[in-house]
Amino acid sequence: MASSSAAKVGVIGSGLMGTALARALAAAGHDVVVWNRTPSKAQAVGSGTVARENLVEAVSGRELVIVSVSNYAASFELLSAKGVAQALAGKTLVQLTSGSPADARAALEWATAHGVDYLDAAILAYPSFVATDYATVFYAGLRTVFDRHLPTLQAIAKNSIYVDEKIGAAATLDCAILESYYGGSLAFLHAAAMCQAEGLDPKTFFAHKNSFLGLISVTADAAQGMIERNDFSGDQCSLNTHVAAIEHIVRLSQDARMSARFPKELLDNYKRAVSAGWGGQELPAVFRTLKQD
Ligand code: NAP
Repeated sequence: MASSSAAKVGVIGSGLMGTALARALAAAGHDVVVWNRTPSKAQAVGSGTVARENLVEAVSGRELVIVSVSNYAASFELLSAKGVAQALAGKTLVQLTSGSPADARAALEWATAHGVDYLDAAILAYPSFVATDYATVFYAGLRTVFDRHLPTLQAIAKNSIYVDEKIGAAATLDCAILESYYGGSLAFLHAAAMCQAEGLDPKTFFAHKNSFLGLISVTADAAQGMIERNDFSGDQCSLNTHVAAIEHIVRLSQDARMSARFPKELLDNYKRAVSAGWGGQELPAVFRTLKQD
């Protein structure tokens, strides 16, 4: 149902995420036009959205156009199609396609050259989280542009967070959170495999998940302070001692004839910090060698 505050929105891309975004916007009462390279997928979005087969028609007259395609290369291909830039001039483009900060900078350059207001965004959610309290979207770009569209964008996530005017900021924060997620997930999956290889039911390990999650949380807080002070000294546990613990993990993995790549990579990183002379400092001292790389 369109309301008096209904915005005219275009959503480019009807993949898993684009479909969820378009449906959430339509459910919030906005006037939503969708376009997809494969038209049948745009038609399948439904839920009050209107599918167009012509991209220029889909974005014309839309005050806000959201892009959600596989990558920035695909997005640039679409934006540079005949008539698209002219149709977007004076309007706002929100890039919800995942990418790197350099992608964001290139997109801002394109938008500025064509008189388009631009926000670079990163969504931290699965499609089923969209419009629920579990969805978070980070935005970078001009604060005034963000504030103007916030009431509309909140249909995607109430937790719509403005990060910084630096256009790469949302992508940077997204990469940082995702690296912690993927790295942490690989660590606990390897740990579960170690347990299984040693005949310990992985569920015993998962029952103690608060032990490692708590340790990571405490270490992140300590690391933040140490990075700010550029001082990694402490009296809790030296890097030398941590390296010995990681060597046990490598040995367990090798003895159990399972993959030891992950703990070896860990060991390599921590040992480099020791070789650089930080062995007597606390664990976050590894930050120094990572920065130098
Ligand atoms: P998807 O289901 O694979 O959909 C990809 C979309 O991109 C489709 O609409 C596809 O069109 C379109 N596309 C790809 N190449 C194209 C090209 N050269 N020209 C025009 N359209 C092209 O992927 P998704 O899960 O929706 O992801 C979309 C974006 O959201 C990605 O950047 C992804 O990283 C991000 N994201 C996804 C999730 C998630 O959980 N799914 C979470 C966070 C962020 P066709 O239908 O014609 O192939």
